[in-house]
Amino acid sequence: AIQLTGLHKRFGDLEVLKGVSLTAHSGDVIAIIGGSGSGKSTMLRCINFLETPTAGEVRLHGELVAMQPDGQGGMRASDPAQLNRLRARLGMVFQAFNLWPHRTVLENVIEAPVHVLGQNRDAAIATAERLLDRVGLLAKRDTYPERLSGGQKQRAAIARALAVDPHAMLFDEPTSALDPELVGEVLSVIADLAREGRTMILVTHEMQFARSLANKIVFLRNGLVEEEGPPAELFDRPKSDALRAFLAPKY
Ligand code: ATP
Ligand code: MG
Repeated sequence: AIQLTGLHKRFGDLEVLKGVSLTAHSGDVIAIIGGSGSGKSTMLRCINFLETPTAGEVRLHGELVAMQPDGQGGMRASDPAQLNRLRARLGMVFQAFNLWPHRTVLENVIEAPVHVLGQNRDAAIATAERLLDRVGLLAKRDTYPERLSGGQKQRAAIARALAVDPHAMLFDEPTSALDPELVGEVLSVIADLAREGRTMILVTHEMQFARSLANKIVFLRNGLVEEEGPPAELFDRPKSDALRAFLAPKY
């Protein structure tokens, strides 16, 4: 499970998260929606401490991530070994393709298992091949990222995130940089993971996808959770004017 409590994040004078609380139980698929600048990416990045919250708590698998004041008005994780251990079991896929350019697809996928988790290389390769097969990329195992299409890069990034057998997957608009005809192949891989019961938190602008996949929708607005609930409730019976406006057709 992932549990955020009263999360605040400030960049200088700008308070981006103003007390966000969110729980993802095992098997939950949570879609985060909201306007540009509402704090969606920042919230997701706080889960694995790519950003350090300025206040509040993050619990991963029941364990409170230890933090202490950094002496400059912010906080920092105070137990790097704990953070590395917890973070190693979160898979994250970003909007922009985050593969190592100088490594083949296979080398990208085995990187964390071998160098972070200390797995035996042959075992890591066997797992990587299974995952690449699953995302339809086994034939590209020895290809460098620059030779892949956007959709293939994103599927490789998903295989790489899965390689550590993550307790939870975090997706930040994984299809928003893709040409429309490539979106489907990536969404179908994500849908497959959701159906197998993998815990995931997904920031997305694909409302139909969120609706069909997620068991909970969270609408962020101005750094706060404005509304949350099951998809049918939020999409069909939005309570707030802000959510109604957000969901209204834009043209
Ligand atoms: P989008 O839908 O456009 O991706 P978002 O909801 O993901 O938006 P965030 O990326 O979380 O929004 O950004 C929220 C606010 O925080 C924005 O005003 C952004 O400019 C600001 N911000 C984000 N990262 C930083 C940073 N490293 N330094 C300063 N300000 C930042
Ligand atoms: Mg964002």
